[in-house]
Amino acid sequence: MTEHGNASTYVNHGCRCQWCTAANTERGREQRRVRFASRRIVDGVLVAPVPQHRHGIANTYTNWGCRCAPCAGAHRRASRDRYWRRVAVTR
Ligand SMILES: [Zn+2]
Ligand SMILES: [Zn+2]
Repeated sequence: MTEHGNASTYVNHGCRCQWCTAANTERGREQRRVRFASRRIVDGVLVAPVPQHRHGIANTYTNWGCRCAPCAGAHRRASRDRYWRRVAVTR
């Protein structure tokens, strides 16, 4: 029997009921809080303790709060892409 209201049920069993979805959202928030707290200040910039190859992607900027130049640049590019896609759709 599957228990609902668990992030693991959401991930492992693919359950998308409101309780499992809420639990998974909550876990993501908690994970992000812990990740954000693990950042270090390098040259006055908050940098996430992720492997080198994880820098320079928008995901690290968003989920880890990494503000190093490559991550910030990737985030800027992603935002700009989103902006232009939206403009293209509405026109
Ligand atoms: Zn469920
Ligand atoms: Zn970074």
